[in-house]
Amino acid sequence: MNSLWLETVKKARDFSSLSYDIETDICIIGAGIFGLTCAYYLSRLGFKVVVLEKDGIGEKSTGHTTAKITSQHGLFYDYLIQAYGKKTASYYLEANEKAIENIKQIIDKEKIKCDFEYQNSYVYTTKKSEVRAIKKEVSAVESLGYPCEYVTKTGLPFDIEGAICFKNQAQLNPIKYLYGLCDSIINYGGHIYTHSVATNVEKNNDDMYVTYTDTNTVKSKYVIIATHYPFINFPGLYFTKMYQSTSYLIAVDTKKTLFNGMYINFTNPIFSYRTAKYEGKELLIVGGGDHKTGQPSCYQDTYGILEKEVKKYYPDSEVLFRWNTRDCMSLDKIPYIGTYSNLMPNVYVGTGFKKWGMTSSNVAANIIVDKICGNKNKYEHIFRSSRIKPIKNRDEMKNMIVQSTNSLFFEKLKRANMDFDKIENNSGSIIEVNSQKVGIYKDSEGKIYAVKPICTHLGCLLSWNDVDKTWDCPCHGSRFDYKGKNLYDPAFKDLDIYEV
Ligand SMILES: Cc1cc2nc3c(=O)[nH]c(=O)nc-3n(C[C@H](O)[C@H](O)[C@H](O)COP(=O)(O)OP(=O)(O)OC[C@H]3O[C@@H](n4cnc5c(N)ncnc54)[C@H](O)[C@@H]3O)c2cc1C
Repeated sequence: MNSLWLETVKKARDFSSLSYDIETDICIIGAGIFGLTCAYYLSRLGFKVVVLEKDGIGEKSTGHTTAKITSQHGLFYDYLIQAYGKKTASYYLEANEKAIENIKQIIDKEKIKCDFEYQNSYVYTTKKSEVRAIKKEVSAVESLGYPCEYVTKTGLPFDIEGAICFKNQAQLNPIKYLYGLCDSIINYGGHIYTHSVATNVEKNNDDMYVTYTDTNTVKSKYVIIATHYPFINFPGLYFTKMYQSTSYLIAVDTKKTLFNGMYINFTNPIFSYRTAKYEGKELLIVGGGDHKTGQPSCYQDTYGILEKEVKKYYPDSEVLFRWNTRDCMSLDKIPYIGTYSNLMPNVYVGTGFKKWGMTSSNVAANIIVDKICGNKNKYEHIFRSSRIKPIKNRDEMKNMIVQSTNSLFFEKLKRANMDFDKIENNSGSIIEVNSQKVGIYKDSEGKIYAVKPICTHLGCLLSWNDVDKTWDCPCHGSRFDYKGKNLYDPAFKDLDIYEV
């Protein structure tokens, strides 16, 4: 079923598909909120921009989101401070607060009618045992100098034990916002092509990139991968760094006057609430029923649980819309924003928004625009897409790694008939992905190192030495460590590595 947002616009905004070869400054792949925000800023700056979209505008995650525009990303800042320190937490908060301002500025400047309204945002609990966690988050946020509030009363139709409130957050209709962005992009001279799938991006001899669709090409100096889940496996290996999680939403006519504010709790079952306008009525939107994408689930545990919850407080309510979507969850809970891989300069990515992509996509767009313009961005280092951070929050990371490996990583490789899952921790092997040989080593924690297992001496296929944890050449005896560093001659160059 379509989301409320896609229904409210009645007629989908469409463009022609790419039917000729084109040269431009920047090729943006994906017309969700991230791709279109990049396209908006860059075309406004006078760059020549081409957007390629596989389907229609905003029809994927952005068109099926809850569309709360907030820097309150669940109970997050205590975690960030514990894991990465106050400075990182404070920058993260500041960047996302700035994103709310930026979105409002765009809406005002471009006169986009998208039902934007300021609302307070709350993370609440109905359980006494969870009040401590809320209070901890309040202290964490206050320690960053941000004025949050601890409250015990809200507009919700049930009693709570406690909540943390961020004031002056917002909500909007994401599809109306995206359509407004499209109008502005076109006005600033940008080009948008829908139903145009990018199949590959390759570097040309003249330091330009060529993005291929099934029929045509876009040649550009810069490429932005805004496809939600990056579609280029190597380099980048984003599929080892994220898993996807699905959530469900219903829009309900409660037949009652509704409350102000946007709400979410933080332990299962998760319920997220906001209101929205639809044909002169105010509807209640309730979200939840989360599970790992691809994992079996049933109606009862998804829409069913939401409907049951609403009926408790609004027995005469009627469900008008049901929809669901998924988002990429990064392993350390921080989005990946920046250069796609060191092996692909001038190709950029924004992903892993972990269900808070409304503001994160704006943060991402600003970082990438600054990179393209050669400006320094204050927040860039926090989100660096090629980061390898030491594990600070072991339980969390372990949990995330298990989740990611159990879902997407294994599944993707399995689908390609790989034996990745047979590689045990502290061991290595050669697998094949898209007909390419990849040497994988998993350390004792399951962290993955991937190399091109071809000897840099004369191109022999290397074999795994499980005693020394090295890649050895059966032809001429060269050896390399599991990170690809050359150890023994005759080779003298390190192995190519796949970034993870
Ligand atoms: C249930 C749910 C509720 C959420 N609620 C909120 C919320 O309240 N607030 C918040 O901040 N965030 C929320 N999020 C997160 C937010 O919706 C996402 O992070 C955000 O929409 C992602 O935007 P995007 O542009 O990266 O991806 P998308 O919107 O998915 O856009 C990517 C586009 O790329 C296109 N594409 C993919 N591959 C190709 C290709 N090869 N060639 C061409 N085009 C391609 C796709 O068709 C798609 O249109 C929620 C997420 C979920 C799952």
